[in-house]
Amino acid sequence: MIISGKDLSAQLKAELAQQVVAFPQKYGRVPHLVVVLVGEDPASQTYVRGKAKASQVVGIKNTTIARPSSISQEDLLALIAELNADEGVDGILVQLPLPAHIDESKVIESIAKEKDVDGFHPANVAALWMKQPCTVPCTPLGIIRLLEHAGVEIKGKRAVVVGRSQIVGLPVAKLLLDRHATVTVCHSRTENLPEVTRQAEILVVAIGRSRFVTGDMVSPGTVVIDVGINRDEVTGKLCGDVDFESVAPKASCITPVPGGVGPMTIACLMENTISCFLRKVQK
Ligand code: NDP
Repeated sequence: MIISGKDLSAQLKAELAQQVVAFPQKYGRVPHLVVVLVGEDPASQTYVRGKAKASQVVGIKNTTIARPSSISQEDLLALIAELNADEGVDGILVQLPLPAHIDESKVIESIAKEKDVDGFHPANVAALWMKQPCTVPCTPLGIIRLLEHAGVEIKGKRAVVVGRSQIVGLPVAKLLLDRHATVTVCHSRTENLPEVTRQAEILVVAIGRSRFVTGDMVSPGTVVIDVGINRDEVTGKLCGDVDFESVAPKASCITPVPGGVGPMTIACLMENTISCFLRKVQK
């Protein structure tokens, strides 16, 4: 079975749009998401456009603020301070990666935690690990939504997460653990990786290597979630971290690339923006 993130994200966005339509009457306005784009990286530009389009579908206000890659850290922090202070802004997202002369952590830490729709602020990260109310990072949240939608039982299952980044691997491992999976996290120094991945009943791959996980690394019946977004060097087309051709025949369910985790990330960003808005207006 192919788990379509495209279909599920469309469904989720339609549900959110229904909710948002009532906001002007209830709260006097709709949620407002501000996306800050630094530089001209084509992939970042595509992601930012996707976020603006999704905002339109859901009915939330979206402002994209573009700044040249030469912007100083000081000026970027000043812009974020302005957005933090603006009562009319509910969510702030700084598109990553940032140019090398800017300290990403400093920028993430400067966003008001109540407006941190990405869930990357240290206060949100800590709250996630302490099981306190928080904004959950969009991609891991989207993965859980996909698993739930596909009717995958997480409790008691052996889950293997390949990749230990702060934005995908670690938080998704925590979310799986919270849902009572037995979780193993692998990384570039893991020995005998295929032996570990073959033990997975749920396999989440987020490493950024084209078609790295092949059929021989997966046991029959595994649920496979491919987070990777890579450009195939030969065809120039998007491909995942999983070799779909050899893995799909063995998997019980698998997400495609494109059309799997990617659209869910954006739908969950919309969900997070609305949650930040509601926390503010319902205070
Ligand atoms: P990072 O580069 O931050 O992390 C990659 C992780 O993979 C690291 O933990 C690294 O290990 C591990 N890794 C790298 N090579 C290997 C290997 N050969 N064997 C085992 N582990 C390995 O990547 P991200 O988590 O940010 O992103 C991963 C992928 O997901 C990318 O393709 C990215 O584009 C995509 N992505 C997709 C999103 C979506 O919405 N679909 C959102 C975010 C990311 P170590 O820690 O030891 O270096």
